[in-house]
Formats: sequence, structure tokens, C-alpha cells
Amino acid sequence: MQYRPLGKTGLQVSALAMGCMRLPEDDRELSAQVVDQAIAAGVNYFETTRGYINGKCQHLTAPGLKGRSRGLIVSGKAGIGPDTTEESYRKEIDLQMEILGVDYLEFYQVGWFSLDKLEMLRKKGGALDALDKARAEGLIGHIGFTGHDKPAHFTGIVETGIFDSLTIPYNLLDRQYAPTIKRAGELGVGVIVMCPVAGGMLASPAPRLQELIPGGAETTAAVALQFVLLNSDVSCACSGMNTLEMLRENVETANTFHGASQEDHARMERVLDEFANLGAKFCTYCGYCKDCPQGVSIRRNFRLYNHAKVYGLVGWAREQYAHMDPEKRADRCIRCGECEPKCPNTLPIMEQLEEVHRVLGS
Ligand code: SF4
Ligand code: SF4
Repeated sequence: MQYRPLGKTGLQVSALAMGCMRLPEDDRELSAQVVDQAIAAGVNYFETTRGYINGKCQHLTAPGLKGRSRGLIVSGKAGIGPDTTEESYRKEIDLQMEILGVDYLEFYQVGWFSLDKLEMLRKKGGALDALDKARAEGLIGHIGFTGHDKPAHFTGIVETGIFDSLTIPYNLLDRQYAPTIKRAGELGVGVIVMCPVAGGMLASPAPRLQELIPGGAETTAAVALQFVLLNSDVSCACSGMNTLEMLRENVETANTFHGASQEDHARMERVLDEFANLGAKFCTYCGYCKDCPQGVSIRRNFRLYNHAKVYGLVGWAREQYAHMDPEKRADRCIRCGECEPKCPNTLPIMEQLEEVHRVLGS
């Protein structure tokens, strides 16, 4: 396993980190095995929170960590609200440690955070006071945040200097946080990337994406993980894993990753930009056409079609189309013509919906 600096915390984090929110809910034994074997493979970061998996996430993680959490970077997480006090937040930290069976958490994340909650966090007698106190008492080591706010807002939060890390989505299909990642890198704030395989979307075969890696990648997931690790400001790719097979594949990818040149990275970015521009020619998902009297979800149909056409995720898109509410599928269009004048991209929506069904409905 390769290790990378986690910002300026002085910690070295495994390139592959484990998100424990996908452990198998009904299989405690397998959950313990996945955690145990991840540790054996050198994974040293485990992201948890109390609410995941119907409240079982930390219960399922605990047996695998038992007796060896010191030396690992175990992370707890809780959100804040207007009523959060120093006392209530501290209780939550204590409770999560108790469930995990640990006497120390290397990281604690303020979850579901956004710029508009900054003052709420910093208020006297609020969550930040609880975190500072827990840190001073040696119960937690570092503070991070995570959420889905606008990239510019997250950059602003990074610049406050409050946090040692941020956890954000970043992958081949979603690079919107790239500027935030760069800024975090400049300031020595650790970057933990979640959704490196886009919630499983990049687990499907996509030859066009696999070709992005020099020499080609065996699977889309492999290229997805490598793409994330190619960014030198990224500390680790945190993937939710629920089978030993998935763990094995991810470990193998992380272990065979030996970096790439800046030129390789620039080339990948260029090709991805070209792909994205191609997608924009089809539909920009503005939603102006959303009131189809037949209930057709034009945006959703076009999004699937774009992912199939642009990135080559045909199998994934066909599967999603098959599972879509039949009332919303492209073939429900009766060509009434109401939507087309609303489209700022002047797309021939009716014609393209036919094409969507032809490609994805087979
Ligand atoms: S043309 Fe088709 S998609 Fe457009 S509004 Fe009419 S039924 Fe809906
Ligand atoms: S109005 Fe046009 S660009 Fe906007 S979502 Fe509908 S089809 Fe796509």
C-alpha cells in the first residue's frame, strides 16, 4: 500500500481509504472480515458515522477494529444544526467512540457542512468549542468537514484555517471541486476524496474511459481510482466497499498505481473536457422542459443517453433505463411538441428521445 501525506497533519494515509457506509447491513461477520482484511492490506483510514446503514455503520465497523484502532485513522462524523450546543455535540462524539469501542478518534468530521453554517459552528458554546475541547483532552486528533456545498463556498471554508481536512466527491465524471482541491493542497489541508467511482457508476465497463490510462486499464473502476490518485493534492480515495472481492480489486489498483507524468494528467483532463463538451451539445440539464404533459423525464433520459454516448457507459445506462419508472421513459413521448420551444439549446427533443429509446431500450 502506498501512503500519502494527509495535509500538514503529519499523518501518512493509505492511498485507498475505506468508507464504512456500505458494509453489508445484514452480515456482521462479513463486515468484520472486510474491515479486518482492509487493515491487513494496509488501509489505515476508516470513515464512519452513526447514522449510516440505518444506524448500524459504527456497530458493523467496531468488531474489525477491535483492539487495534490506535495507529489507524478512524474518523467519526456528525452534522450540526441551529440547536447544536457544545454539550450536545460532545455527547455525540462520546457516543460514537463508545459504539466504535475506541478511546481515541484521529479525525472527527463536521458532516453535511456548508458555508452558511460557519457561524453556527463557531458560535460560543457550539460544536467547535466541543471539538476544540475534545482535541485538548486527547480524545480526537484532528477536525475535518464534509458536505456538498458549492466549490467556491468550500474553498472559502478551507481558507478559514479551522479544518485539517475536507472530504468531497471527485471523479472522472465530476471534477467540479478540482479548484477547491488545488487550494486545499496549497494550504496543506488534507483532501479525502469520496465517490471515486461515482457511486458505482464507474464500476461498469466503459472502454473510452479505460483508454485514458496510458496502456489502458483493465476495468473502469481501476481508471477511476487512478484518475483520483493522479491528482497530487489528493490525500486518499475513500471508497465504500462491501465485499472482499471489491476490496481486493481496489487494493490491487492502489498498489499497482505508480503515478503518472504531469503530461499524462493534462492529457486525461483534456480528453475529459472534450467528452464533457460533447455532452453539452446534447443537453445541459437546465430543466426548462420539465413540465411534459406526459410525464416524460427528458433530463433523466438525456443524462443516461449522454453517459452511454459520451463515456461509453452503455451497460450501466441500459440497466438504469430498464429500472426507470416506465411512465418517465423516452418511449412515453407522444410528440406533442410542447417541450422543444422551451429548450435554450434548440435540441430536437422528440427526435432525440426516439434515439434514446432505440439505444437504451433494446
Ligand atoms: S414532445 Fe414528448 S417529451 Fe416533449 S412535451 Fe410532448 S410528450 Fe413530452
Ligand atoms: S430544455 Fe433542453 S437542454 Fe434543458 S433539460 Fe430540456 S432538453 Fe436539456
